[in-house]
Amino acid sequence: MEDLDSGRVRPGVAEQQLADLAALGLDWDGPVVWQSERLEHYAQALAQLDADGFLYPCYCTRAEIREAASAPHGAPQDGAYPGTCRDLSVAERAERERAGRPPALRIRSNAAVVSFTDRVLGEHSVVVDDLVVRRNDGAPAYNLAVVVDDTAQRIGEIVRGADLLDTTGRQLYVAARLGLPASRHAHVPLVLGPDGARLAKRHGAVTLADRAAAGESALQVRARLAASVGLAETGELPSMTQLLERFDPAGLPREPTLLAP
Ligand SMILES: [Zn+2]
Repeated sequence: MEDLDSGRVRPGVAEQQLADLAALGLDWDGPVVWQSERLEHYAQALAQLDADGFLYPCYCTRAEIREAASAPHGAPQDGAYPGTCRDLSVAERAERERAGRPPALRIRSNAAVVSFTDRVLGEHSVVVDDLVVRRNDGAPAYNLAVVVDDTAQRIGEIVRGADLLDTTGRQLYVAARLGLPASRHAHVPLVLGPDGARLAKRHGAVTLADRAAAGESALQVRARLAASVGLAETGELPSMTQLLERFDPAGLPREPTLLAP
């Protein structure tokens, strides 16, 4: 459970997600692991990166990064860090410390190019920027925590939404810097609204609770999802065993599925 962003965690949502998974017939190995209970492991990883000389403090605000990135010869890609604080002198750092702005910690990437083969989407190469590994509120960053967690839980293959494809290079880079094994990935295209945008409330009844209120059971929702990727006939209610027998990663769609209006 990714609950490190304490400002955004709403009580009860995680429990609802677990209940939704269970209602759909999806289970998991062992007890649920909460990131908020693993802080010492992330601190250890940060200490290791720091001891190896890979980290530096960054005092930039979001607005400053946006501005610097939009300047000519700025960042190499959208949202990438332009390197403002990478080579500050001791005096410049002291000056920013005196201003009282708490720094984030970034990892030096030297614009490394990370290449990987996604099981669904194929070959990818990305230029990794100096990403944040500890936020300026002291919380470990998502891209650090997931890498530490995957190794701890011996996750060798990650299946997730294609919207996360862009973060994969960053996570592989952090894993390599920590001396951890590289996971393999399969990024699955998303189900989108009829307008091609990410599913949201304005698209109507899109949560399991919404569907239940509209008279559709969790098993019917599962059957509809299965039919959308060719694992079931329309109107059929396949069992989990049947779905597992039919599942073949090679048969997954390469393009997003648009929800019928
Ligand atoms: Zn900075």
